Amino acid sequence: MSASTAASAAYIVAGLLFVLSLAGLSRHETAKAGNAYGMAGMAVALVATVGLAWRNGNALSVGLIVVAMVLGAVIGIWRARIVEMTGMPELIALLHSFVGLAAVLVGWNGYLSVEGAPAGEAEELGLPVGIHSAEVAIGVFIGAVTFTGSIVAFLKLSGRIRSNPLVLPGKNALNVGALAAFAVLTVVFVVSPGLAVLSGLTVLALALGWHLVASIGGGDMPVVVSMLNSYSGWAAAASGFLLDNDLLIVTGALVGSSGAYLSYIMCQAMNRSFLSVIAGGFGNEGATAASGDVDGEHTEVTAEEVAQLLRDADSVVITPGYGMAVAHAQNAVAELTRTLSDKGVDVRFGIHPVAGRLPGHMNVLLAEARVPYDVVLEMDEINDDLAKTDVVLVIGANDTVNPAAAEDPASPIAGMPVLHVWDAGHVVVFKRSMSTGYAGVQNPLFFRENTRMLFGDARERVEDILRAL
Ligand code: NDP
Repeated sequence: MSASTAASAAYIVAGLLFVLSLAGLSRHETAKAGNAYGMAGMAVALVATVGLAWRNGNALSVGLIVVAMVLGAVIGIWRARIVEMTGMPELIALLHSFVGLAAVLVGWNGYLSVEGAPAGEAEELGLPVGIHSAEVAIGVFIGAVTFTGSIVAFLKLSGRIRSNPLVLPGKNALNVGALAAFAVLTVVFVVSPGLAVLSGLTVLALALGWHLVASIGGGDMPVVVSMLNSYSGWAAAASGFLLDNDLLIVTGALVGSSGAYLSYIMCQAMNRSFLSVIAGGFGNEGATAASGDVDGEHTEVTAEEVAQLLRDADSVVITPGYGMAVAHAQNAVAELTRTLSDKGVDVRFGIHPVAGRLPGHMNVLLAEARVPYDVVLEMDEINDDLAKTDVVLVIGANDTVNPAAAEDPASPIAGMPVLHVWDAGHVVVFKRSMSTGYAGVQNPLFFRENTRMLFGDARERVEDILRAL
C-alpha cells in the first residue's frame, strides 16, 4: 500500500471518529465519550499527516510540523488547565480567530506559490489557475472575516470592550457594499491575479468581520459565538481545498454545518432572526436603548430577612445566572437547596438557555455541585409555574430575567424569551450593585414592588442565609 493510500485510509477513520464525536457531544450522558472520539480522531489525523510528510521525504516540513505540534500542545495544555469556567467563551473565540488567521495564511501561501510564483509553477497545479485563484480569494475572505470577527467576540466576551452594539450610519449599506466589493474583487482576481487585488480583498474582509460582530449587541452574543464556530469550519474547509487535503475539507464541513445548525437552534430559542444576526444585526437599528433609562426606587433586604421569607415559603425557584459562576456560589446554592428540601420546601431551578456565558453553563455548575437533575428545569418547563411560586431567588442573573424583553418593544433585547420571575410572590435578586447585565440594558425588575435586592457577593450572601436558617 502506498503512503498516500494509507494516509487516505487514516483520514477516513479520523473523519468517522469526528462524526462519532459530534454525535456523542450532543447529549450530557455521552459527552465524555464524544470528547474521547474527537481526541482519537485528531491523533490519527496528526500521525497520518506527519507520516505522509515523512514518506514524501520532506524532513524540513516534518521538523516544522513537530515543532509546531509540541509548542501548540504545551500552550494548549497550559491554557486548558488554568482557564476558569467563566473564561471559556473568550478562549473559544480566540481559538476560532486562530483558525481564521490560518486560513488567511494558507490562502496567501497558495497565491505566492502559484499565481505569484515564477512562470512554470502554475502548470504543475493540475487544475485551471482560475479555479485555484477563486479558492484563494474565497479562503482568504472567509478566514479574514472569521479572524477579526472572533477577535471582537473575544474582546467583548472578556469585557475588554463594551458589549453594546456599534451603530455606524448606514451600517447595513456598508455590509452589503462590502459583499458586493468582495464579489467584484474576486472576479478581478480570477481574471488577473495580483498582489494589490488580494491585499485589497484581505483588508476588506478584515474590516467586514470586525464590523459584523461589533454591530451585534450583548444579548445576541451566544448566537455570534456559535456562528463564528461555523465560519471557522468553513475557513478550514476552504484551506482543505487549497492544500488538497480531504480530511480538512470533511472536518471543516462538519464543524461548519454543525455550527450553523447550532446557531439556528439558538436563534429559535432566543426568538431572533438567523439572517438578521449573520448580517450584523440587520433590521435592529432602532433597538439601541442604552443603560440607565429606567428609573425607580429599589428596596434592599438582609440575609436574615430572606431566611425568614424562605422559612415561610412552600415553593421556591432558583434562577441562576452568570454571577453565580463568578461568585463560585454553586456549592452554597446546592447546600441551600438541600437545607430547604429537608424543611419540606419544594425547591426547583429555572434555567434560561443562554444564562451564563456558555450554552449549558448553569447545568454544568449545578451538576458539579451535585444538584439532582430532576429539580433542574428548562425555562419553558418552569415559566408557567412561576406565578404559583412563593419566592424566586435570582442568583447573579440579570438579562435572562429582564421584563423589558417581554414588555418593551424598543429594548435591545425585545422579543428574547426570559424567565417571568416577576410573576412570583416575592423575588430576591442577589448581585453586588445596580449595574446592568451583559447586554448593557437596565432591568426594571429591580424596581418592582415584590422585588428585594440582596447586595454582595452571591456566595457570601447564600452562606449568610444558610447560617440564618
Ligand atoms: P448577566 O450577564 O445578564 O448578569 C449577570 C449579573 O451577575 C450581573 O448583573 C452582575 O451584577 C451579577 N454578578 C456578577 N458577579 C457577581 C457576584 N460575584 N455575586 C453576585 N452577583 C454577581 O447574566 P445572565 O446569566 O442573566 O445572562 C447572560 C447574558 O450573557 C445574556 O445577555 C446572554 O445573551 C449573554 N451571553 C451568553 C452566552 C451563553 O452562551 N450562555 C454567551 C455569550 C453571551 P453586579 O455586577 O452588580 O454584581
